[in-house]
Amino acid sequence: MGGVSEVAARTYEEVLEITVKEIAVNLPVSRIPDQLCADLEFLFTDIDDTITYQGMMPSETLDAVYRLSHAGVKVVLVTGRPAGWCDYFARMWPVSGIIGENGAFYFSYSRETRKMKRIYLLSEEERRANRKKLNMLERKILLEVPACRISADQPFRIADLAVDICEDVDPLSREEIDKICSIARGSGAEYKISSIHINCWFGSYDKLTCFDRFLSDLTGETMDTYQERIIYCGDSPNDEPMFKALDNTVAVANIEKYLESLEHLPAYITSGRGAHGFAELTNHILKKRNGTG
Ligand SMILES: [Mg+2]
Repeated sequence: MGGVSEVAARTYEEVLEITVKEIAVNLPVSRIPDQLCADLEFLFTDIDDTITYQGMMPSETLDAVYRLSHAGVKVVLVTGRPAGWCDYFARMWPVSGIIGENGAFYFSYSRETRKMKRIYLLSEEERRANRKKLNMLERKILLEVPACRISADQPFRIADLAVDICEDVDPLSREEIDKICSIARGSGAEYKISSIHINCWFGSYDKLTCFDRFLSDLTGETMDTYQERIIYCGDSPNDEPMFKALDNTVAVANIEKYLESLEHLPAYITSGRGAHGFAELTNHILKKRNGTG
């Protein structure tokens, strides 16, 4: 009888836990469990409008990343930004690595061996063939949506095409953004909308695929076994695959304009916007980790 009751009780607890996870959306950061803060091994975070503020990297972000690193939390940047930028972040920031161009690759720099590890999800031949298709896609987009521009950081990209919708151009209309997405879709390209660009690429990968690869290369384990030791932080629709796959996700407050269009929501939302929200998250984690909160 006891055995049956135990099984029933455990099953009930499991069901309850699943239910709690399912309804844990859009909660304030103060609700992140103490245990998660204590056990945290990895903080994966988007860059633009998540750890930046109004297009700049405030000093509090670098300070937050250093503090996390000193507290034993491995910070990994996850971005749509180009390979050229990623090389800099991997080399000069106290991070364990960076996933770039929406998952085309990850870079990880070892300070001990002074070697940069560069892992691409597609082969060099595939990337070369895809570049030709991206060049054709670029011409088509510029022809059909004259108000848009190719992003200023395009020369430093290896695997994708970034269309500027809000960074160095006046914000494009919803119709223009939809048109660009429709052209990309019609060409068989993958695409994601960030707060500043539409990134287009050929290949069946995204931030999540590369995140999986990074985690298994670094730890030898899978995402499922790491769920309670990872937090992901983002701000826009291109973070949605992470919001969907991970249990412990955070968005900074500027996610609010996308909430209605997102199918998969973050578990927690900061009250601060961009970098200020990231600092708020960091402060909460470290306070709980130090046992002072
Ligand atoms: Mg972003």
